[in-house]
Amino acid sequence: KCYPSQSQNIAFTCDIITSNNNNYNEKEDRYIPLERLTRGALIGEGEFASVYEGTYLKNNGQLIKVAIKTLHPEQMQSSKSEFLREAEVMMKLDHHCVVRLIGLSEGPPLLMVQELLPLGSMLQYITSNSDRINSNFEFKIWAAQIAYGMQYLEQNELVHRDLAARNILLASRNQAKISDFGLSRAFGQGHQYYQAKEGGKWPLKWYAPESYNYGQFSNKSDVWSFGVTIWEMYTFGETPYGDLKGSDAITLIEQGERLKQPDACPDHIYDIMKRCWDYKAAARPSFQELVDIFTTDSG
Ligand code: ADP
Ligand code: MG
Repeated sequence: KCYPSQSQNIAFTCDIITSNNNNYNEKEDRYIPLERLTRGALIGEGEFASVYEGTYLKNNGQLIKVAIKTLHPEQMQSSKSEFLREAEVMMKLDHHCVVRLIGLSEGPPLLMVQELLPLGSMLQYITSNSDRINSNFEFKIWAAQIAYGMQYLEQNELVHRDLAARNILLASRNQAKISDFGLSRAFGQGHQYYQAKEGGKWPLKWYAPESYNYGQFSNKSDVWSFGVTIWEMYTFGETPYGDLKGSDAITLIEQGERLKQPDACPDHIYDIMKRCWDYKAAARPSFQELVDIFTTDSG
């Protein structure tokens, strides 16, 4: 559903965030034989995986460009079940603000085949195109789309747990999508949050106090990470808390300090960020409210 708006600008935003402009809806076999794939250049590296550009020859003879994600070889044994879990989560999702999984290939190595987001990660894009971005326009659209996709995850009882600019991908200058479900978890019926049993390679600078203190992850802890993600956006890709270690950033948060207002960030948007970083999870805005805020013209 689109949200009421007065200005044309925002009507356009609404149009963009609610339009479903991709061709991956048709149900085709999700298991892709290796011989239907070709692998091209490396386009991204994360903590766990490498991502390549490639092509996929579909059953109907159509050749499409895809992104092929595979675990780093040294991770292959230890993280295979995690990788499959990630694919399983993505397979159930169907939203234009969430990166689509086209299928899995047994390889070897095990491969995830995703829709290709030609502009790559938001972090890369804002770092190398800062002169071409109108922060008042693109940033608001992207923030609205991220909140919209996150609201969809919330409806599906999922926590993302790795929301950050490096994990937002751009299909175009008008379409941001959420990706990297490697840490995402279902919190299950009747539960308010997902309880982590043990720590891991956690992105602490993006984490809410209840997450780094007690291992509790909820949609409200994702809202904290959303605040950090839009802070990265308005700084054109600065690292949160600079060179500080994650554990030192936590000390600052516990003392009541927060990330500073970026130069390109208007006061009313910094106010929203600070609400996302309320120590009390319940006091943070919901994703629904964030969608409303970023699709309503407030200057
Ligand atoms: P990890 O779980 O290791 O962090 P990601 O899924 O985040 O792996 O992918 C790492 C990087 O690869 C991303 O930051 C992005 O630059 C690139 N990438 C991942 N998926 C895609 C995609 N579908 N289209 C284009 N680039 C992608
Ligand atoms: Mg990642």
